Amino acid sequence: MKILSVASECAPLVKTGGLADVVGALPGALRPLGVEMRVILPGYSGLADRLTDVRRIDVPLAGEAPAQVLEGHAGALSLLLVEAPDLYDRPGGPYQAGDGRDYPDNDLRFAYFARVAAAVARSGAASWRPDLVHAHDWQAGLTPVYLRSGAGPPPPTLMTIHNIAFQGLAPMDRAAALRLPEAALTMEGAEYWGQIGFLKGGLALADRISTVSPSYVGELMTEAFGMGLDGLLRRRARDVVGILNGIDTTSWDPAGDPSLAAPYSAADMSGRAANRQALGERFGLTVDAAAPLYIVISRLTRQKGLDLLGEVLPVLLESGGALAVLGTGEPDLERLFRDAAKRHAGRVGFVNAFDEPLSRLMLAGGDAILVPSRYEPCGLTQLLGQRYGAVPIVARTGGLADTVVDANVAARRAGVATGIMHAPDSAEALAAALRLAAELFGAPGTWERLVSNAMALPVGWETSAAAYKALYASMLETAPCQPPA
Ligand code: ADP
Repeated sequence: MKILSVASECAPLVKTGGLADVVGALPGALRPLGVEMRVILPGYSGLADRLTDVRRIDVPLAGEAPAQVLEGHAGALSLLLVEAPDLYDRPGGPYQAGDGRDYPDNDLRFAYFARVAAAVARSGAASWRPDLVHAHDWQAGLTPVYLRSGAGPPPPTLMTIHNIAFQGLAPMDRAAALRLPEAALTMEGAEYWGQIGFLKGGLALADRISTVSPSYVGELMTEAFGMGLDGLLRRRARDVVGILNGIDTTSWDPAGDPSLAAPYSAADMSGRAANRQALGERFGLTVDAAAPLYIVISRLTRQKGLDLLGEVLPVLLESGGALAVLGTGEPDLERLFRDAAKRHAGRVGFVNAFDEPLSRLMLAGGDAILVPSRYEPCGLTQLLGQRYGAVPIVARTGGLADTVVDANVAARRAGVATGIMHAPDSAEALAAALRLAAELFGAPGTWERLVSNAMALPVGWETSAAAYKALYASMLETAPCQPPA
């Protein structure tokens, strides 16, 4: 089974969030199941230099010069890079210039990317032709749209929603520049309230839709969470499935992680204390052995509920706790944590950066990881926290609700809890969770049990990779035959 994965990020090459982790991990998780997945990415600055076994291919595009695509490998990943230096070879990030502003031509950048991905899938110009196309988020949203506009039956398409808040909208008068055929600009296609909707188009025209947790499926179909696309998703409810994200448990393994001060495992936790100590030092914290050291590793946005954490900081500090925050994002939230670190020097530390090695040390040294999101399609940091023994304290929403066993009374009596859950959207509920955490931290044996349960929880890809394979197989069974390449 050959799958082309179309995405704007792929760890470890280019990452701004969880999308990259998932796109980077899926090929390796599917390989043992006999699924061959290649990832097509925009050829961002510097990426081509990281490819080995490079082959340049011309991909025919209707009515214009062929697209330039590089085929090659980066480690175990098999990649295709869309070469268009005027669109992708820029010094900033994948979506934004260094000043934090979106590139003004993001519509063109990702429309072209999706168009080339569709052409690769159809033309067989690459050394193989996929049986199925798996598109991720709005940046790849027009792939099913372009695929449908070619001649003959296209390969089946799966559209995955990693976060419905980002939809990719462009004014309708951009249609010609984006080479969208008129037939695609209807309510049944990419038209969205008079605009062009990249994700909308993908959701309307993909054969199947998936998202990254079962709970988020239900939420997406409500007005509160669907962000305008809930009606479409309700209409397509039979085509929508939730498959939980996993993490790459080889890369994320406290027993072999080179970023840690000392390795450890569930069987031998003796190295953990050195990581707690090192974490405290990196953040300038005086950490109390008797109270939890909390960590946050996050985009700093309202979605992540971190303004609520600002409100309840006194509760966290009253119990003797300390807090280390790593993140970048909205200026007011960056300010909040910068001020808190100044006001509570030694108890609150803030590193305003995207720093994966530091995030690893935090997971290894923190007692609890806070994820108070207002909504969370899946969330990865609570999975990483459990893998490293940082107990997750999470909002009961989306994938957080699906991946943490809440320390309610029954779960504690049964000895199966792995974290603490609170209702989303409320400072009071988060404060109650912090009080419970402090209490459990102080109760002999209780916190240790949470930690060992968390570390024993399966958070890898095994189950979900099998679910993707089953989904692909069911789509291929019902797809019309493709002409031979
Ligand atoms: P989202 O994709 O919404 O940002 P996820 O929890 O799904 O949230 O994934 C975030 C990923 O990015 C995780 O791997 C997390 O560890 C990582 N991450 C987020 N912020 C930082 C940061 N400042 N430094 C390092 N890694 C980060």
